[in-house]
Amino acid sequence: MSHRVYLRSLGCRLNQSELEALARQLAGRGCQVVDDPAQADICVVNTCAVTAEAERKTRHLLRALARANPQARIAVLGCAATLRGEELAAFPNVAWVIPNEEKERAVEALTPSPLPPSPSPVERERGRGVGGVGVRTRAFVKIQDGCDNACTYCIVHILRGPVRSRPPEEVVAEIAERVREGYQEAVLTGVNIGAYGRDLGRPGGLAGLVAAILAQTDLPRLRLSSVEPWDVDESLLALWPNPRLCRQLHLPLQSGCEATLRRMGRRITAAEYARLLERIRAAVPDMAVTTDIIVGFPGEDEAEFAESLAFVERMGFARLHVFPFSPRPGTPAARMGGQVPEPVMQERAARMRDLGERLAARYRRRFLGQELAVLWERRRRDGLWHGLTDNYLQVVTACPADLHNRIVPTRLVGEQNGFLLGEVV
Ligand code: SF4
Repeated sequence: MSHRVYLRSLGCRLNQSELEALARQLAGRGCQVVDDPAQADICVVNTCAVTAEAERKTRHLLRALARANPQARIAVLGCAATLRGEELAAFPNVAWVIPNEEKERAVEALTPSPLPPSPSPVERERGRGVGGVGVRTRAFVKIQDGCDNACTYCIVHILRGPVRSRPPEEVVAEIAERVREGYQEAVLTGVNIGAYGRDLGRPGGLAGLVAAILAQTDLPRLRLSSVEPWDVDESLLALWPNPRLCRQLHLPLQSGCEATLRRMGRRITAAEYARLLERIRAAVPDMAVTTDIIVGFPGEDEAEFAESLAFVERMGFARLHVFPFSPRPGTPAARMGGQVPEPVMQERAARMRDLGERLAARYRRRFLGQELAVLWERRRRDGLWHGLTDNYLQVVTACPADLHNRIVPTRLVGEQNGFLLGEVV
């Protein structure tokens, strides 16, 4: 019997790309991917454990799925399955708990006897997203897994193990396939993509892979997900004259305070980070540099937080992702003295987010009056189209034509609730 499978991903883009790959494998074994859990006989959740909040969302979703469809069996994959396997196995309807090291074989566990392939889930669902997997204009392509760093707050490198990279030929072939399917943009994802290729014993690294993708495929747009700042070198920066490479670099900073960064075990100082940003902006003046910031790391007093806040302001980021510190079991930071009380942490998060909004507004206003190419992704409930420029500006427009999955020159004429208003040229 053919299975009907509902897929949900929590957490990072890597989880999303893994789930998209699983959707394709399941379709290849005769399963039908559905976008309503009530229609499914198997529900798959790719989980996240990066914070206590992410784990809470996992538990909440598992209960909601069991309520929405008491007949469906549930498969729990990923980081929370690795960290909390026994606990999650006891949740209602959970039939499989598949930790990260067994994830690659998840498709065989879920469908022991394959059937003839069903139509590609991407073709069938274009424009709607596959069971919450994502928008069908940008493909998230996994290029590596794991991380060899040891940031003291991080559980991801513990749960996902050391760096393992996919061979470049395989990545290029996958992207060529996504281009044939009609995708306009691919986002390279992984736990630590700056470390790409170090385990393969071949020269080139991430810069070599990006160069190969640009040279060997017709992909209109290529975007990098998060790159650790110490992995950005001249060979990577030298690629940006190519207009198909999106002018966005997500460089996790985590704190702008030198002492906090040392306790975090980060491999860069704030001063080195500032010098790197100068080099990046000299090479690519309009680059959208976005970042992650943790507030309330153990030992962060008001003076350290103020140093971090002032540094973030000086760096002029295009967007901030702010996370209150969340102690993760088994990490050095969870055992450190000076844990910051929750109300203090929340107050600092609010101040940092407020700064983030001001910086984002400052960045996007630089582009008012300019004409930029926008990849239009979806029509919102209010009827406006929503899309992204290559430098990660979010644009909306009122347009009667079907703009879905088209890259169109657009004049940026105003602002509306944190979005830029565009006029399609
Ligand atoms: S670079 Fe640090 S934060 Fe990122 S995955 Fe590796 S250890 Fe974790």
